[in-house]
Amino acid sequence: MVSTQGPIDVVNMIYSYTKAEREKHRREKGVVWVTDLVRCPLKRLYEELYPELSLREVFKPSLIVGTLIHLGLERVLKEVVQEFSVEVETEWSKDVVLEDGSTVVVRGRLDVLLSRGPERIAVEIKSSRSDRGIPQRHHLDQARAYNWLADTAGTLLLYVTPSRVTQFYVEDRMDATEVVSRIASRRAPRYSWECAYCAYSVLCPSKVESQL
Ligand code: SF4
Repeated sequence: MVSTQGPIDVVNMIYSYTKAEREKHRREKGVVWVTDLVRCPLKRLYEELYPELSLREVFKPSLIVGTLIHLGLERVLKEVVQEFSVEVETEWSKDVVLEDGSTVVVRGRLDVLLSRGPERIAVEIKSSRSDRGIPQRHHLDQARAYNWLADTAGTLLLYVTPSRVTQFYVEDRMDATEVVSRIASRRAPRYSWECAYCAYSVLCPSKVESQL
């Protein structure tokens, strides 16, 4: 016999876990996350105005798969990497002064940090349904932002896709000037493909037909 019920509701637990993880990234006044530097600035505004739309993302199976891949890989790297010490989910911040003289904190969380003496390398895990076009521009920008934020020598972009598992090592870095200009930027969308995947495209007047 097959039924849709069982003695324990694991699916519900997975959704609750994913939701709780998301809550850890609650907005704080005066804090800008690295992810904000590499996405459409309007999303931040809409997140506050329409939290229900962003909450819907929690139930996207592709995001849950991504979370599970992150957790699995973080654990595997802790187990297999010998030549570096391995920390997961470390948080970093730096202050920047905006053009109007106000200060904001830029914050980011590295999936994995590899350390060997003074040498530090970040690992950013990316899971995706396709390996087309990797490494993607916004991932490279994110890696550059982490190199600035955490003073890492480089960031390994580790891609896990159904047809390719591969890595790219990014040594370029942002500087404070670029970070400030990204915070101030009102260009929406920031990347041409964003609207096609955006939860707020159902109401956004700035939506553009994306070039996928
Ligand atoms: S629909 Fe496009 S422009 Fe509007 S918030 Fe989303 S990504 Fe930004």
